[in-house]
Amino acid sequence: NPDLFKASDRTQTIQPPPKPNRSKSEPTKPEVVVDVEGKRCYYKGKILGKGGFARCYEMTDVASEKMYAVKVIPQSRVSKPHQREKIINEIELHKTLQHKHVVKFSHHFEDGENIYIFLELCSRKSLAHIWKARHTLTDPEVRYYLKQIISGLKYLHNKGILHRDLKLGNFFVSEGMELRLGDFGLAAKLETVEQRKKTICGTPNYLAPEVLNRQGHGTESDVWSLGCVIYTLLCGNPPFETLDLKETYKCIKEVKYTLPPTLSPSAQKLISAILQKNPADRLTLDQILTHEYFTKGYTPDKLPPSSCVMVPELNP
Ligand code: ADP
Repeated sequence: NPDLFKASDRTQTIQPPPKPNRSKSEPTKPEVVVDVEGKRCYYKGKILGKGGFARCYEMTDVASEKMYAVKVIPQSRVSKPHQREKIINEIELHKTLQHKHVVKFSHHFEDGENIYIFLELCSRKSLAHIWKARHTLTDPEVRYYLKQIISGLKYLHNKGILHRDLKLGNFFVSEGMELRLGDFGLAAKLETVEQRKKTICGTPNYLAPEVLNRQGHGTESDVWSLGCVIYTLLCGNPPFETLDLKETYKCIKEVKYTLPPTLSPSAQKLISAILQKNPADRLTLDQILTHEYFTKGYTPDKLPPSSCVMVPELNP
């Protein structure tokens, strides 16, 4: 295109080359991912998000039209054995899980370029997305989500599995507004206090004091993270958050946080009974469910999808 060069000569700005001619009525050819061994093809759809190792895409099985959320991990990102082991651990662990409040694992395969992990599509994304739009949730909404989170988490703990990275972004929400616990990238089998590895792996969000003090991660450490999640959903910001990480860790170890007086008294009591320095002093999952926060307050059976972006009108 000679005109393009003329223009750039005059203005000293270089124009990007024109995009190939495609009118709006003529959609781009969809990208297809082929599972040669499994003899299946998938249309690659929109990107759902980016994570540490993976990009997550919506994909549709060409034959059945079934839709999935697919984690795509480039082989280049898992070229070192320990990186590959992490992904294999996640796959092998997730494969064994079957619960209505845990993201369903479908199947996986790899080609020369990527590893593909096919998961149940949670079309309403996660509590992180809802929290971003809403900033705070109401007590009935928090009870609604929390009951389902605890149901999924009890299932994991009963199987002797720790999640170890409970955070808003790992609480996925289905089309029908049901909660699904997901992302088992840091999950591990529960070990005895002596067997526990004392290193902190990855960058978990809501670290418990005992994890920071290298005493290992137990079921109580998952409960601590849950306390931080409840605080964040009700207050709009995390309980321990400062400008520098060292300072944050100091606050966690000293359990230094403030409860805004706008919180309902039962929510204040619940949070302070969970955010206890000594793991043995923390509420258990069953004790959370029988706490007055739940027994004296209304929990809706379902939430309208509109509550992802605005305060719902709920009729007890
Ligand atoms: P990370 O845990 O580092 O955020 P993930 O690979 O688990 O990385 O997820 C990347 C993004 O993909 C997230 O932002 C999440 O919103 C989205 N995602 C992951 N799993 C699903 C799912 N089952 N349904 C819908 N979106 C998902």
